[in-house]
Amino acid sequence: MFLAIIQQVATHTASAVLAVLAFYLSLVSTSLPPAAHEQKSIDRAINILADRGFADEVFLLKGTVTFRGTDHWLNQFTEKENAYASTNFPFQIITLYPEFYTKAADDTERAMILLHEARHLMGENENQAYSYVWRNRRSLGWTLRTHGTTETYATIEQMTRETAPELFNCPEKPWEDCTE
Ligand SMILES: [Zn+2]
Repeated sequence: MFLAIIQQVATHTASAVLAVLAFYLSLVSTSLPPAAHEQKSIDRAINILADRGFADEVFLLKGTVTFRGTDHWLNQFTEKENAYASTNFPFQIITLYPEFYTKAADDTERAMILLHEARHLMGENENQAYSYVWRNRRSLGWTLRTHGTTETYATIEQMTRETAPELFNCPEKPWEDCTE
């Protein structure tokens, strides 16, 4: 009796694991990996995060993520959150779009985008991910002073104001930005 229960649980667990694996493989097999030169950009951006002390995010990005260069079937049915990247939690798949390489001004901006996606790898929502990056922009070395004139800085600031308005609720601070 007891053994039969164990055996049944084991069979069900194995079926569940196989189902998740099959789903994951269908996502990976319907998309393409980043090109070799793109992978180098990704590696440089992750190294910047490592240098700036984002150890948990670097661990996830290096150890758990499958990077893709084109949309898999599931992304074609989901709304794009932004032009740069998209993360499928808990499958730990990050799709990086051409804007990640071309619109981002440098590797620090690419590191900023990966920092945002890494927060999704932990299960955080948009509010939490935008808020985390904005609150940590000085540690990252991505600030108004260093990057304030880039297209990406303007875009991400605007999206942060829309997604995490509670950070911009301080009339006594410059630009009402509570993190200033
Ligand atoms: Zn996001």
